[in-house]
Amino acid sequence: MIGGGPSGAVVARLLASWGHRVVVLARPDDPARALANSLPPSTFKLLHQTGIADLVDRVGFRTTGNTVWWGERDGHAESFSPDGSAWGYQVDRAQLDPLLLDAAAAAGAQVVRGARVRQVRAEADDLGVTYVRDDREGACRARLVLDCSGRAGVVAVSHALRRHVPGGRMQALVGVWASDERSGLPNQTHTFIETCDAGWAWSIPTSHTVRHVGIMVDGAASQLARGVSLDATYQAHLALLPRIHRQVRGARLVRAFACDASVYTAARFAEPGLLLVGDAGATLNPLSSFGIKKALASAWLAAVVAHTSLVHPDRAALARDFFSHWSSQVWHVNLKRSREFAEEALVQHPSAFWQTQASASVDASQLPLDETALLTSAPVRAAFAQLRLRDTFVLSLASQSTLVSAPIVRGQVIAIEGAVALGPSPRDIVRYLRGVDLVAVVGLATGARDVPTLFEQYCARHGAVPLPDMIGALALLIARGVLAIDAPHALAAPR
Ligand SMILES: Cc1cc2nc3c(=O)[nH]c(=O)nc-3n(C[C@H](O)[C@H](O)[C@H](O)COP(=O)(O)OP(=O)(O)OC[C@H]3O[C@@H](n4cnc5c(N)ncnc54)[C@H](O)[C@@H]3O)c2cc1C
Repeated sequence: MIGGGPSGAVVARLLASWGHRVVVLARPDDPARALANSLPPSTFKLLHQTGIADLVDRVGFRTTGNTVWWGERDGHAESFSPDGSAWGYQVDRAQLDPLLLDAAAAAGAQVVRGARVRQVRAEADDLGVTYVRDDREGACRARLVLDCSGRAGVVAVSHALRRHVPGGRMQALVGVWASDERSGLPNQTHTFIETCDAGWAWSIPTSHTVRHVGIMVDGAASQLARGVSLDATYQAHLALLPRIHRQVRGARLVRAFACDASVYTAARFAEPGLLLVGDAGATLNPLSSFGIKKALASAWLAAVVAHTSLVHPDRAALARDFFSHWSSQVWHVNLKRSREFAEEALVQHPSAFWQTQASASVDASQLPLDETALLTSAPVRAAFAQLRLRDTFVLSLASQSTLVSAPIVRGQVIAIEGAVALGPSPRDIVRYLRGVDLVAVVGLATGARDVPTLFEQYCARHGAVPLPDMIGALALLIARGVLAIDAPHALAAPR
């Protein structure tokens, strides 16, 4: 693993605990330039799945929601739960990252701290990695190299895989503010978010007395490029954000720094022997607060793909394609969401910054199927009406070609199992819809005579699902021509 941020440390911990020999080469990070990250409650499942929930809880500052001025004059508070009992975390990465590396080491990974990777080269059947540590050259060989080096993208850049997008170059100007007393702000554990013409800002508390206030600006147009001092640029931008500015009045600016916050993706996220994990492959717009969540999901899937490649080399290419496809899909979904946020902000801020963000080009063919749109489409509603009209029915497989094989994650490996082709494009190949196993529904439906029996059989064999989701899946299979429906009396009528 190149890099010891969340993705590198987590994938190393997982692979070491699954019995692989793992080396992490981790460049030293400057704690003075560490970001504070906000982790919404939706990250919890992955924190547990990757075994780091306790560590995040140890250093994280609990927050109950966000307060947002998104192009609005009056802000609104968004609590994670109506009664305020749900929480997320705000973490100072200078505190979290060393703990994640300790956890990787405790799981058996060899962690080489202070190692800056220089090059990755193909050497016979392996990959050779060279690095510098304490001014001395070091080297190691590996069957797999996972680039987890974040924005540096050691492999992504040297292998010309990185793809920048128009308007994606952005810069974050970050200030760390401390006060002697606990702030008297309402919802003081919240992340505050505010937009202005030039960009937007977030204010993340990492304790009751410290806040990280970052401002996102156009990377190309920023005054920083024209030689104005960083502190002056930061303060000038902060003055454009009256609510957040007011909140830090009376606090001390401990330090300010700038960092790249560009949004980019990769031409491919995997090549033979190589995977691009977390931010090394692609970055999300920070306004989503899903960077860490995506890094953890990417690390977990990368561990599964690496494990599959080592244990079942015959599936290595398939596993790589699966990883690449998933990574690209996640990136496109997020780009679309960020564009929607930008469209909202553009109404109040008709500026070049928001115009560019709102014009991001999203390749719809890369988006996963929209389950809600599918289930509420006219053909599905018509199929549903057909089902409702009949007390009993006969369902048959309309075409054998709709049953296909596709890769799927099963435990720690990528397996090849049955799936249903709902249409001609690769993204139409689906196994589960709202948790309902479509292959299982097809198998049971061809022997069933009515919905209640089919539902009972499905739940008994494959686990309980909500009835509306099961009927939705059945209607979809009929609407997409996977199953054909006939009235039993019509078929049974003697000649
Ligand atoms: C301004 C900003 C605000 C953000 N806010 C949030 C937020 O609120 N919530 C959220 O979830 N996400 C947020 N993110 C995103 C989040 O920080 C990243 O998605 C996350 O850090 C990615 O983790 P990673 O491990 O892939 O990469 P990184 O965290 O970048 O880790 C990469 C590691 O690799 C090391 N490295 C680099 N080059 C080398 C080399 N040559 N040799 C060895 N090691 C190397 C680096 O030093 C670093 O330790 C934000 C990002 C930005 C830019």
